[in-house]
Amino acid sequence: MDIRETNYWRETVCEPAQGTSGPLPDSVDVVIVGAGFCGLSAACALAKRGLSVAVLEAETIGWGASCRNGGMVLTGMKLPVPTLIARYGLEPVQRMYAASLESIDLVEQIVKEENIDCSFSRRGHLEVACKESHFEGFSESAARIKREFHHELRIVPRRELRGEIGSDIYYGGMVDETSAGLNPARYVDGLAKAAQRAGACLHEHAPVEHIKTEASSGGRIFRVKSPRGILSAKEVFLASGAYTTSATPALLKKVIPIGSYIIATEKLQPELARELSPRNRMIYDSKHFLYYYRLTPDNRMLFGGRAKFFPESESTVRESAELLRRGMIGVYPQLRDTKVEFVWGGTLDFAFDVMPHAGVVDGMHFAVGFAGHGVAAATWMGAKIAGTICGDPDDNPFAQIPFPGAPIGLRSGNTWALPLAGMYYRVLDFFT
Ligand SMILES: Cc1cc2nc3c(=O)[nH]c(=O)nc-3n(C[C@H](O)[C@H](O)[C@H](O)COP(=O)(O)OP(=O)(O)OC[C@H]3O[C@@H](n4cnc5c(N)ncnc54)[C@H](O)[C@@H]3O)c2cc1C
Repeated sequence: MDIRETNYWRETVCEPAQGTSGPLPDSVDVVIVGAGFCGLSAACALAKRGLSVAVLEAETIGWGASCRNGGMVLTGMKLPVPTLIARYGLEPVQRMYAASLESIDLVEQIVKEENIDCSFSRRGHLEVACKESHFEGFSESAARIKREFHHELRIVPRRELRGEIGSDIYYGGMVDETSAGLNPARYVDGLAKAAQRAGACLHEHAPVEHIKTEASSGGRIFRVKSPRGILSAKEVFLASGAYTTSATPALLKKVIPIGSYIIATEKLQPELARELSPRNRMIYDSKHFLYYYRLTPDNRMLFGGRAKFFPESESTVRESAELLRRGMIGVYPQLRDTKVEFVWGGTLDFAFDVMPHAGVVDGMHFAVGFAGHGVAAATWMGAKIAGTICGDPDDNPFAQIPFPGAPIGLRSGNTWALPLAGMYYRVLDFFT
């Protein structure tokens, strides 16, 4: 296979946002660690409210998961609603679900207001059932969501599935018309430019190495150290996702970094593209070890999954290309002779309870755990944390749930147990 080990989305960004050149300022109101959806959405909102903001990014703007993902702007959360209600009770889950719907509107609003050319489109998502029992679960979820949250999902029985997907391997599907698709690299780039226009300073190649708290006349001040200098701030927001480092050890303990990989084919003929995905949905299947796929705006099939559980490296990316190609042909035999042109990987930020979390750790704000829902959720959470910093009422439902730490061995930087996690999910997929 002659495949480019390059992120296809990145290739579509013409003039990427550039970080602020020159030395770091001495002090700002807020330092944000990480220039992904979460950090940049917060930076934009804070700067618009008149605060001085410095975003410190270890690599380049949008370098983390935010430019590498499937670009699916999804409603709901990773776990099924009945599971969430059993765990947290109805009222908190109603607020979480409402936040998930609000987050799609927020992405749409930002794209419109900031004029971001990222092919945002309300295509809807389609979840496909890999087993009969999964399809029965869809009906239960859809009924519960309608009853408790007044949000409508459409159940698609197997005999009608060809109207949604050109594959015969699934037992049925569930459609949510509210979800959307976009080009994530262009979206994160547009968010960065919007934050800069609002007055935030974005500093690339500025890895935060250490954060110290000192008492000051006003109460407390943070000293944030990077090779580019030391910066003082009244508040710090950790938006470092799956790429969190030992600079913030308390957060590092909570994050489980999991690799996910994507291939993109050559451009498909319009008739073939229409056959594979007649309504151009964002599609994912019902397994734990799932596949997610969609057409790109230029009609490539983009097909992703957790082919390898380890965070991305040259070897996991290369091995994933063939595993994913086989997975893709399993779903779409029509693509047997289609060339795969791109493969890349990224790292997802999972929490042990598979939930997004926000709050304060060592006096610093944080938000993490977006897993496969971060396009919308991280954007929303960044704006929400900006509100918290500005003193808005604290009504963030994800800040009010317990945040369990990951077991030793699943923590960042100590990933020997990830293949075991992979095996665990494969076994779960076999039996459930
Ligand atoms: C392959 C893949 C496919 C996905 N598909 C989807 C999808 O289709 N839909 C969806 O909703 N979600 C998807 N996701 C998840 C989504 O991309 C993430 O949840 C989201 O991008 C998280 O955004 P973030 O801003 O929190 O983190 P990131 O975008 O990862 O940004 C964190 C940044 O922090 C920086 N950083 C870390 N430590 C430091 C430090 N000490 N100093 C300075 N900088 C630091 C990193 O360099 C990084 O750039 C996918 C993820 C992957 C990897």
